[in-house]
Order: sequence, then C-alpha cells, then structure tokens
Amino acid sequence: MAKARKSPVMFERVAFIGIGLIGASMALAMKREGLAGSIIACARKATTRKTALKLKIVDEATADYAKAVKGADLVVIATPISTNGPIAKAIKPHLKQGAIVTDVGSVKQEVIAAVAPHIPKGVYFVPGHPLAGTEHSGPEAGFAELFEGRWAVLTPLPRTPAKVANKIATMWKRMGAKVDTMKPSHHDRVLAITSHLPHLCAYTVVGTATDLAGDLKQEVIKYSASGFRDFTRVAASDPVMWRDIFLSNREAVLDILQRFTEDLAGVQKAIRRGDGAALEELFTRTRAIRRGIIDAKQA
Ligand code: NAP
Repeated sequence: MAKARKSPVMFERVAFIGIGLIGASMALAMKREGLAGSIIACARKATTRKTALKLKIVDEATADYAKAVKGADLVVIATPISTNGPIAKAIKPHLKQGAIVTDVGSVKQEVIAAVAPHIPKGVYFVPGHPLAGTEHSGPEAGFAELFEGRWAVLTPLPRTPAKVANKIATMWKRMGAKVDTMKPSHHDRVLAITSHLPHLCAYTVVGTATDLAGDLKQEVIKYSASGFRDFTRVAASDPVMWRDIFLSNREAVLDILQRFTEDLAGVQKAIRRGDGAALEELFTRTRAIRRGIIDAKQA
C-alpha cells in the first residue's frame, strides 16, 4: 500500500531554478513530506536535467525559465548569487499572480537588491538561506535530510505579508529545519564570521600549502593530518558559489577580515615572545565554544 502523505500539499506546483545540492535537497525533502503537487526544475545543462529526472528528484525538467515558472505557486531560485538578478528579470513576465518567490542565497542584501525590483505586483518575495550544505555540488549531491535540525534564516521584506513569510517558515519546518528571522544586514554580518571567514581561511591555508615547492608539497599530501584534511574538505567547496559570496558580501567580509588579521598578529606576537599563558587562555576559550556548538546539536 502506498505510504500516506504526512501533511497536505502546501504548493500545487513548485519550480526550482537551479537544481544542484540545495535545490535537489529541497525537492527531495518536499517530496518526502508531500509538500508539493508537482515539481519542475530549470537548469542550463542537459546532464543536470537528465540526472534530476533519473534520480526522481523532480517530475519535469526544462532549460526554459518561462516554461518552468508558468503556473507555479512557489518558485525557488537556487543558483549562484550572481545569476539571481538576471533570472528574476527573465521570469518576471511569466510569474503567476499570488505566487511566492524565494531564494537560498548565502548573502542576503545583494540578492534582495538584485531580485526585489523584478518582483511584480501581486507576487511575493521571501528571501531565505538554509544554513546547511556540503562541499559537493549538483543534483546527485542532494539528499532529503540535509536540513534536519539546521537553521533556515528568512529575511522578509517590510512589505512581505506576515501570512506569506509564515508559509515559507512552515515549509522549512516541515523539511526538518529550525527557522529564524533576521534583518538582511544582520544576516550578512553573522554569516561573514560563521561561514565566510572560515572558508576564506581554508582556501588560503590550502593555497599556501599548494604553493610550496617540490618535496615539501608532496609531504603535505602524503602526511596530511586531520587539521589540513579538514581544511581541504572546506576548500573543495564550489569555486563559483564562493566567488559570488565574497564579492556579494564584500563589506562584512572585509570588516571581519580586518579584525581577524589583528587577532592573528596577536597570536604571532604571543608565539614570538614565548607567551604560553596567552596561547593557553585563547585555546581554552575556543574549546568552550566547540562544547557550546555540540550542546546546541549543531556539530
Ligand atoms: P550547485 O550544486 O552548484 O547547483 C547550482 C545549480 O544552479 C545547478 O543546477 C546549475 O545548473 C544552476 N545554474 C547555475 N547558473 C544558472 C543559470 N544562469 N541559469 C539557470 N540555472 C543555473 O549549487 P548549490 O550548492 O545548490 O548552491 C546554490 C545556491 O545555494 C547558491 O546561491 C548558494 O549561495 C546557496 N547555498 C549553498 C550552500 C552550500 O553549502 N552549497 C548552502 C546554503 C546556500 P547547471 O548544472 O545546468 O549549470
């Protein structure tokens, strides 16, 4: 006997523009929870569309923006940030009255500035960002459990009706996420420290190691201890996505980078002076942060 749906359909027709790690994970979670009547994906590459269909992530796939969003009650933009504005412009004439457009971009102020002007009257935009991901890309990387116990941050516009923002919040909760609402500028500052700076450090550490000459470079790969290995995992994240994040969240990233370099200089000084107490004090504080993350079940 077919498994009964866990909840009523929230959206009769859902369109994903971009069906990579995030889009595919959302589509799979929506299917699992019975949130969508039907799901269509729009992607540029034929291989991406074929994979999404073969893995039964979506019911239909197209390369045509107009066809994808026609009649859709929910449109999810899940492509690299720099494409969000042009995509919003392209889908604008084809959006159904009453439809909700949402996105998953890792930076909010620039995405809102690029997308909001193209949202027609009678269509609603609820910017969002799931704080969940892996270093893998493409539809084959998607899995329905990605958002389980993770935060989804919404940054609704002042003109977004509460009912509409609540509907998107409910959608995320049904997909297993916890939901928080923030101002876009606050989101971008928080993410600069919790996500963007760590990725920048990982990219730089791995870059430094790969710039080493000859023998030393071979040893780095051969004896890669857990510290370096963890950095390489983070530094294997999608280059286009991360290029867009750093360019879109420039100010917040530069601000936090300034503080970081000052703190790094402090650590450098402590090592040079043999100031063990300062080092131990710092490492004790940072260890407590790790324990807090484990207690909050975000490890
Ligand atoms: P991904 O796996 O690389 O998938 C990107 C998708 O976008 C692909 O289906 C790609 O289609 C499509 N695409 C790219 N440019 C397009 C265009 N101009 N028109 C139509 N489709 C286009 O990326 P992702 O990891 O899912 O990331 C997508 C978004 O989620 C990004 O904005 C990112 O900031 C955000 N996000 C990512 C993570 C993460 O950890 N990965 C976490 C939270 C939020 P083709 O294959 O046909 O090119």
